[in-house]
Amino acid sequence: MPFKQNVYEKALYKEPAPIRDSEHPFQAMIDRFDIAAKILELDPGFYEYLVTPARVHITAIPVVMDDGRIKLFEGYRVIHNEILGPSKGGIRYAPDVNVNEVKALAAWMTWKCAIVNVPFGGAKGGVVCDPANMSPGELERLTRRYTANLLDVFGPDKDIPAPDMNTNAQIMAWIVDTYSMHTRNSSTAVVTGKPIILGGSLGRVEATGRGVMSVTLSAMEKIGMRPGQSTVAVQGFGNVGSIAAKLLAEKGCKIVAVSDVTGGYYNENGFDVEDLIRYSEANKRSLAGYPEAQEISNEELLTLDVDVLVPAAKEDQITSANAPDIKAKIIAEGANGPTTPAADRVLDENGVLVVPDILANAGGVTVSYFEWVQDRQGYFWTLERVNKRLDRMMKTAFDNVYNASEQYGVPLRAASYVLAVDKVASALKLRGIYA
Ligand code: NAD
Repeated sequence: MPFKQNVYEKALYKEPAPIRDSEHPFQAMIDRFDIAAKILELDPGFYEYLVTPARVHITAIPVVMDDGRIKLFEGYRVIHNEILGPSKGGIRYAPDVNVNEVKALAAWMTWKCAIVNVPFGGAKGGVVCDPANMSPGELERLTRRYTANLLDVFGPDKDIPAPDMNTNAQIMAWIVDTYSMHTRNSSTAVVTGKPIILGGSLGRVEATGRGVMSVTLSAMEKIGMRPGQSTVAVQGFGNVGSIAAKLLAEKGCKIVAVSDVTGGYYNENGFDVEDLIRYSEANKRSLAGYPEAQEISNEELLTLDVDVLVPAAKEDQITSANAPDIKAKIIAEGANGPTTPAADRVLDENGVLVVPDILANAGGVTVSYFEWVQDRQGYFWTLERVNKRLDRMMKTAFDNVYNASEQYGVPLRAASYVLAVDKVASALKLRGIYA
């Protein structure tokens, strides 16, 4: 056990329960929150307050489909917490999105913003739909009606959505337009992740992958690993995974494996990541058939003999079943929730340095914050300024978490939660409970 405190014996905060592979992401969030609550000896009232979403909106969204039928979709917006500022978080369009997942993602946004010192609370949205099988017109009508239904929830000083899985800058543009039409204002700051021409920020598209690169380099430095002599496997080759791979390769790392929903691809000599990106873009975001690669399964990718593993696809990929076989010395979690609580314990016992999601992928929300600031100032920054400030904030956040990990003698994940929960609890104490 490389840490001074066995956090798993200290969990759970209330009744003893097994540390588990996730039943659903919200439980995975609570399992980690419990560890921090116990270390901080959090007041039970504060515990209830901080773990409970402030508001859960569920809304029916009628859409006239292209064939004239009216179809009802279910949409969610969960405001987890607004103690540090207006709530912030993406909107996910997916057939299997559900309210528990959105609650977890909203809470993670609260902790993420606290860790990188961004003055936002946490929120997340979702719509149960299959965007791959919807026309642009249907998606536009869905987005506009979802926005109209949640008009009283959204606002530059209230709740600020952003893109997440299957939503993009175009969808953000429709939200800006719908919101602005209703409020009779030009409210570009109501969302982030917009097209640049509508008040988006330079560097936002690359921000999450860039943050993953930054924390990976910081982690390497801590254990004396040199980028030029390191091998990396990246699970998921979308926005986060492809940019993280590209930037790590630029720093000298050898990217030997990548994967997407079609499977895993291995090249022991290291990939030309720019070429992989070109190939994927030309093939509807698929790496299938990439010539200079040996095909492997997604499961094999996770347990390859590499120095660094970057899970950047989806939840619950590293579990108690495969964690014992993971050979990477560093895991930098680009995705939200890729590791289950049960796997945390195995990885800690095996001495794997896990840079947790709420720190590793916080580059996205950091540049979203920059975008919101720029919109409100009406003054736009150069890419150089955005990247410099992002790098500085990610480095500071990593150092704060690493120092807390040493101070409390706990893994980086527990240290991240301790810092985040302590910060939000301190702000709550100052604000008090309004009666
Ligand atoms: P994306 O849709 O651009 O890419 C997802 C990638 O994962 C695709 O290449 C897809 O093919 C692949 N994938 C899906 N299922 C897979 C599987 N079972 N095995 C391997 N690959 C699989 O999404 P993204 O924006 O890159 O987000 C990825 C993760 O990062 C999500 O967990 C998201 O919540 C998180 N995240 C994203 C951002 C952001 O700014 N985009 C910020 C913070 C966190």
